[in-house]
Amino acid sequence: MMSGKAAAKHSDAYPTLFSPIDLGPVRVKNRVVSSGHATRLVEDQIVGPRLLAYHAARAAGGAGLIVTEASMIDIDSAYSSAQLMNVDDSIVPGYSMLASALHAHGCKVMGQLLHLGLEQSHGLDGRRTASWGPSDGSAERYHTSGRAMPVAVIKSVIAKFGAAAARIRRGGLDGVEIAASHGYLPAQFLSGGINQRTDEYGGSFENRLRFLREVLVEVRVNIGDDLALGVRISGDEMTTDGLGSADVVEACRLLGADGLVDYFNVPVGSSREIGAAIHIVSPMRTDVAIAVPFAERIKQVVDQPVIAVGRIKHPAEAEAVLSSGRADLCGMTRALICDPQMAVKSAEGRVEDVRECISCNQACIDHFHRGIGVSCIQHPETGREQTYGLVIRAPSSRRVLVVGAGPAGLKAGAVAAARGHQVTIVEQERVPGGQVLLAERLPGRSEFGGLVPNLMKEVVAAGAEVRYGITCDKSFVVEHAPDVVVVATGAGPRVAPIEVGEGADVVDAWDVICGSTTLGRRVVVGDWRCDWVGMGVAEMLRALGHDVRLLSTGHVAGEMLPRYVRDHWLGELHRLGVDMLPLSRVMGVDDDTVYVQHMASGEPVLVEGVDTFVSSAGHVSRRSLGDELDGLDVEVHVIGDAAAPRTAEEAVLEGLEVGTAV
Ligand code: SF4
Repeated sequence: MMSGKAAAKHSDAYPTLFSPIDLGPVRVKNRVVSSGHATRLVEDQIVGPRLLAYHAARAAGGAGLIVTEASMIDIDSAYSSAQLMNVDDSIVPGYSMLASALHAHGCKVMGQLLHLGLEQSHGLDGRRTASWGPSDGSAERYHTSGRAMPVAVIKSVIAKFGAAAARIRRGGLDGVEIAASHGYLPAQFLSGGINQRTDEYGGSFENRLRFLREVLVEVRVNIGDDLALGVRISGDEMTTDGLGSADVVEACRLLGADGLVDYFNVPVGSSREIGAAIHIVSPMRTDVAIAVPFAERIKQVVDQPVIAVGRIKHPAEAEAVLSSGRADLCGMTRALICDPQMAVKSAEGRVEDVRECISCNQACIDHFHRGIGVSCIQHPETGREQTYGLVIRAPSSRRVLVVGAGPAGLKAGAVAAARGHQVTIVEQERVPGGQVLLAERLPGRSEFGGLVPNLMKEVVAAGAEVRYGITCDKSFVVEHAPDVVVVATGAGPRVAPIEVGEGADVVDAWDVICGSTTLGRRVVVGDWRCDWVGMGVAEMLRALGHDVRLLSTGHVAGEMLPRYVRDHWLGELHRLGVDMLPLSRVMGVDDDTVYVQHMASGEPVLVEGVDTFVSSAGHVSRRSLGDELDGLDVEVHVIGDAAAPRTAEEAVLEGLEVGTAV
């Protein structure tokens, strides 16, 4: 039970966000929603312990409503063993466990139902599927072609939606949400560009809406009037032939007037095209609260509550959306991935403790794209709740010296201190952050800097001491005699192994980011790691007026980046006129030529007319302290980039692991 004092705080700061709302027959205690998102935590295509623990953590943290990830209603729409399949009664016990676990915290739960239609790229055995759609057609992003559904198949799919909804009811969930968003089957029927049918399911707008209407009728028949029924529909698909805002608004107006639907859930974007798919999980340089203008248009024509989804990261942003009447609830999915306690902290007047999502996409949606469980670079406990869900006190308090206040060291220090150890973090610079301080200087990457204050909050809350301006060597360790040393000294720039001829102007990308070098007009950036640095430096220099060519060792520039981040950045570089040459191994540089080997053919390529070559050759570890401590009677752990140069994700995770292990 919340204290009177805490209740006063939440009503002062976020009165709308923390007020209840009715979604038809279902009362939700607040407006904080975890919208349906694929987690890859599903086991054997049903709700298992990992998914249960993941959602329960968010419910315990105060979320009002959780929508499950999509359950496929048809075996034709299966593509992974780590997705929910609602095609027979084996799904029901897992739904029941989920409902019990979430209801115990006063959190409501909807089951989302989906058929991919033409967006089905492959089946469970890896084969390309003969996907179904409203018409013969293709899906550009997955390079697939599908076939028109005969009316008998349409009727059978509608019946499967109904049967799946009945299982949700039997599982004890609070409602059903139909995924008509992101270019999936119901949206394909609705789209005049995709649906070329001439029967009762094609042609006029009413006919194109018929499939979704019949699905909703069938679902309502199967769930009755005491469960909520929602429709998730992209406010604008942002594609060349999908649904635009005007069509979506009209569809929602008609569906709202039918009286079958209890709420609308409005994201933006579509799976169908690369430029539209970016907005399925909008990266950090896109607009905050990106779907709100579209949700607002729908709200103006329907009586039902509208959920706005997409880069609403902070309770203050959510409150602004809600109090201005632009939407009724806010999907804050990544905010909850990043901080499962976000809602309760905000409600209890502890908003300064909230760990704010930085929209890096690195461990949430990119884990999905790489086939692994959802997590967060700032909070690697996410998706690992069974291992790290509880902070377990150490059996005895040890003296832990952490060397380096970058992401790895800060997390290690915070976790170790929270477990009762006496932790001192020493840092040779005057501020914490390590390479994050460089990363945040790249174009469009300033939000990334939020990682440091977020980790510092954990450090301070746990009671670890941080000392700056200290260079730690073996004698420092001997003098202070800790029980444990955690070497988190990071990495420095790597010198590219290339021949540099007379007159060549070669500079390092790190120096360019720091602004500590001058360059000629015609610049070539050689990007070995294919991550943020090469693309960021190329954009930075193009914006300054240089002619820029970006050579990368990947199949595409930014190959190692989270997919939507990469694709968005490729668009930016294209708009700016940066030439990009993939599969380019730089062999040498002279006064006006970069000598390249094509990585597939092995043939030489000359890149001529070059004033300055910028080398982005990755990093080398700074781990000499770990070697120096060999032979001392002290437990030593080397983590993060000091172990091997990688990313902030591995650094923070290894900080968690070692902080838990010591
Ligand atoms: S990985 Fe990045 S985008 Fe995803 S939840 Fe964490 S901070 Fe947010």
